[in-house]
Order: sequence, then C-alpha cells, then structure tokens
Amino acid sequence: MLHIAWSPEFVLPLPEGHRFPMQKYEWIPEQLCYEGIVRESDLKYPEIAALNHLQWTHTNEYLNRLQQQKLTQAEIRKIGFPLSEALVEREFRILQGTLDCAYAAMKSGIALNIAGGTHHAFADRGEGFCVLNDIAFAANVLLHEKIASKILVVDLDVHQGNGTAALFNTKSEVFTFSMHGEKNYPMHKEQSNLDIELPDGCNDKQYLKTLQVNLPRLIDDVQPDFIFYQAGVDILETDKLGRLGITPKGCETRDRFVFEQCRHNRIPVAVSMGGGYSPELKTIVDAHVNTFRQAALIFF
Ligand SMILES: [Zn+2]
Repeated sequence: MLHIAWSPEFVLPLPEGHRFPMQKYEWIPEQLCYEGIVRESDLKYPEIAALNHLQWTHTNEYLNRLQQQKLTQAEIRKIGFPLSEALVEREFRILQGTLDCAYAAMKSGIALNIAGGTHHAFADRGEGFCVLNDIAFAANVLLHEKIASKILVVDLDVHQGNGTAALFNTKSEVFTFSMHGEKNYPMHKEQSNLDIELPDGCNDKQYLKTLQVNLPRLIDDVQPDFIFYQAGVDILETDKLGRLGITPKGCETRDRFVFEQCRHNRIPVAVSMGGGYSPELKTIVDAHVNTFRQAALIFF
C-alpha cells in the first residue's frame, strides 16, 4: 500500500499574483485519486513535527523566532512566502510528512510526500521558498533513532541542495548528492559530497546518461541503508526558473531509474516533491504525478 503524506494545510493561501504555484498541492492529490494511482485512504495527514526532533536539524534560536513570527523582513524576503501562523504550521507538518514517509518506506520500500524537498533551508535560516529542511530533519531522526546508519540524499531538483549540503557537511553518516544546473540559483553553491553541474539546455540523453553512470556507482560506494529522493520537476525545458532542456518523458525516465535502483538494491526510499515552475500548472502537476505513477509501477 502506498503511503502518501498530504494535508489540506499544505495549500498555503498566498497573496494574489504570488509567483509560487501553490495550487499544485491541491491538484496533485486530486489527479492521483482520479487516475486511481492512489486511493483517498492512502493519503495520510501528518501531525506537527516534534520540537525535540526539530532541534537536531535547526537552531533553537531560529525555531523560537520562527514560532514567535519574529523573523526580520530580510529573512522573510529571502524565504519568499509571507510569514504567518499558517506558514509555520504548514512547514512543521511537511517535515513530519517526510519523517512519516521514511517510517512507512522502511516497511513497504517507498513512500512519498506531496510537498517537501525544502533543500534551501539551513540550520538557522531559510531561502528560496524553503523555511525548514524536511529531508535533513527526517534523516537526523532516523540516525538518532538508529533506524538508519548510512543515508544517501539524491537531490535531482534543478537547483543545488545547498541547505542540505551545509547541514551535513561534517556528518559522515549522510552522503549528499546533488545534480543541478550549473548556472541556476543558488549563485553561491555549497559543497555536497558529490555535486554534478549540468550545462544550460542539457537534453534528455545527456541528463539520463549522467545519472545512469553516477547513481549505481554511488550506491555501490556509499552502501546506504536509506535513500531520500528530492524529485524536483524544475528540470523541465518549460520551467521558468530552470535552464535545462528535459522533456516530460525524460523526467519520468529519471524517476523510474532512481526507483529501479532503490528497488534493485533493496534500499527504502522516501520521496519529497521539490520544485516545479512551468508556466502551465498542468505541466507541473503531470510531471509530479508521473513520479507517483512510476513509484507505484516499480514497487507495487
Ligand atoms: Zn528547484
């Protein structure tokens, strides 16, 4: 049975004209149920993440100011969402959603969060639509609870997973792998354990070949007992923020390849959605839905 983390609170009301496609969090579960890829009963509402768990990833000072809504205007501007109680609750639920997926994946092989992939959040700050780091949060809980001992983060969003890289740069139990556009945000990149930078306009063939050469080798070298997959669909050629030339088919093949590797090596995988900024919401939703479709095909 698929475990899908989702909550109505994921759909944060935004001011008119805001450039973030928030509606995707409403459309994806609808489309998944409509196509029969998931049943409504597969959608599991996450609770609010526990503060003692949060402290393993974020500083108390940042968490306190976030909860009291005392971030500075500059900090809020960098995040890109208006600061509100609803935003804080949403982020706490998204983090718990990814952790719930990790627990579920330990049993069934895979689970997916219809949000998350907030890889631009650091220990003490957020940026680029990311307030708190869901993958780092869940990875730290798995390590503390000794559920996993070696974790691989596969971050295939078009933007570098700079927050995740920085959060784990001194932690040998987590290997961070980010494959992203060389010229994309963030301009200042952190150092992941493995960064692969792709040129502007990179096509399906070049992209998939790079992934197919590197991922199996990486799994062999790192020998992870858990994988977090950030499945951003901003690699699409239509994406407003991405600079690559990947077709929807290429994006789907990417997801299938990652899942085949996890399945073949019997490594549980928790998936976070990541970014997607194509001008048509339908393009974004279709690409995310493909991720779930491939997950269901490969694992069930
Ligand atoms: Zn992105």
